[in-house]
Amino acid sequence: TGGEELSEDIERGEEASTKVTHNVVFVTSEAAPYSKTGGLGDVCGSLPVALAARGHRVMVVSPRYLDGGPSDKKFANAVEVDQQSKIYCFGGVQEVKFFHEYRTGVDWVFVDHPSYQRPGTPYGDIFGAFGDNQFRFNLLCHAACEAPLVLPLGGFTYGEKCVFLANDWHAALVPVLLAAKYRPYGVYKDARSIVVIHNLAHQGVEPAATYKYLGLPPEWYKALEWVFPTWARTHALDTGEAVNVLKGAIVTADRILTVSQGYSWEITTPEGGYGLHELLSSRKAILNGITNGIDVNEWNPSSDEHIASPYSVHDLSGKVQCKIALQKELGLPIRPECPLIGFIGRLDYQKGVDIILSAIPELMQEDVQFIMLGTGEKQYEDWMRNLESVYKENFRGWVGFNVPVSHRITAGCDILAMPSRFEPCGLNQLYAMRYGTIPVVHSTGGLRDTVKNFNPYSKEPRGEGTGWTFTPLSRENLITALKLAIGTYIEYKSSWEGLMKRGMDRESSWDKAAIQYEQIFEWAFTDPP
Ligand code: ADP
Repeated sequence: TGGEELSEDIERGEEASTKVTHNVVFVTSEAAPYSKTGGLGDVCGSLPVALAARGHRVMVVSPRYLDGGPSDKKFANAVEVDQQSKIYCFGGVQEVKFFHEYRTGVDWVFVDHPSYQRPGTPYGDIFGAFGDNQFRFNLLCHAACEAPLVLPLGGFTYGEKCVFLANDWHAALVPVLLAAKYRPYGVYKDARSIVVIHNLAHQGVEPAATYKYLGLPPEWYKALEWVFPTWARTHALDTGEAVNVLKGAIVTADRILTVSQGYSWEITTPEGGYGLHELLSSRKAILNGITNGIDVNEWNPSSDEHIASPYSVHDLSGKVQCKIALQKELGLPIRPECPLIGFIGRLDYQKGVDIILSAIPELMQEDVQFIMLGTGEKQYEDWMRNLESVYKENFRGWVGFNVPVSHRITAGCDILAMPSRFEPCGLNQLYAMRYGTIPVVHSTGGLRDTVKNFNPYSKEPRGEGTGWTFTPLSRENLITALKLAIGTYIEYKSSWEGLMKRGMDRESSWDKAAIQYEQIFEWAFTDPP
């Protein structure tokens, strides 16, 4: 079966007539609510639950991050499994322990090792990325490959016949280990591996000398070999030789998935492929995309405990209460009629934060309020603080990572801006639509797949579409699209209500995506590894 043929089946999301259940093993650097810095955490916190609800046996393997603070409580219900593993890598033997919690139908397995116990995020602290990340995630992959073989969860192991979902570069060594360390010895012959790319911009690239520490046989070096182009080398003697873990997964995995169909095409182009487009194009027959769903219980305006007043598509009256409460919380003038625009996300070049910040002075000429929530690059944090001091009456820049506040912004705003340079799927536009908040997005990747541009001239009396999409990405185009949205909000109340209701009615649950994942499993098991 070719990738393109499958895309159509996947698009339909039809269920197979006979249902086969699988042992599914997610390997990931984050899984909400235990750990989350972005969309990866959300997906690995909710897709496993949706698959378990459909009858699969599902395990999620991720690190047991302890930073000595209150968030350690999240791991409090996970108990130590009486089964340690010795892992040979990085020139020595590492002993890892496993902790386990059975919750929401899923086996949550946490790998315990001193290198996961330090202050900061999963990836770094105030001084930047941790220097030993290659080691920390290499260890995760080795441990995750052992887990189905050795852990007697609920009394019995998962065994060899399972499907691994290796998420992003942190887990990308899993398909390589299956191919290089296990299958040559007859182990995991019947297992399959799928690498899921949430963001191709991060690939796990390290000096070539790192290879000998990864615990892989020397003859597999070519699978990870990566040569920088001449212009990217630092000095004349630099040969550009490196290893690239994600590349290794793309070469060895049985299937490759991205988190939207649009993104699965973009990564095969020079602009979106981050140097891997030719390799990905050559693997097109096994490459596909499935749009992420969202946790519709956590993100539900009619039962959200973080927001001031519940509301639903049938009774929108609570939304304005949420807006008033948000204005109060932020110390903005309480003006329910004034358009309130929001942004939530990592303060990163990818997210087009610079485009928003440079558009603020012109937008502040309009009668609007603007709130940004995020953490990330210091230059953007400073820029946000600076704008807040200039536009005290209309602009707030909240520097921090705060899930309850992100719910209140999603509910209280009228418009959500997402001018991402690229966006593998994007979740905030999905949350926004579910909360009747209208997304204004750059038409790229998952944003293009999920937000339908507003058409006021359709046959439908209140128009068609769920937001505004614009391209190419520029400050001017963002301002134009936002002004269109603001104008519609002020002048055309019934069109606005139509936009809100269509967004709130949009099917975004994991149900459809879970069926599509099942189709990929079936497809993977029909071919030999
Ligand atoms: P990415 O994974 O590229 O960061 P996504 O849109 O896929 O982007 O997912 C981002 C997730 O992280 C969303 O759940 C979003 O609400 C959350 N998030 C990002 N920044 C913050 C923040 N400062 N506070 C709370 N939640 C945040």
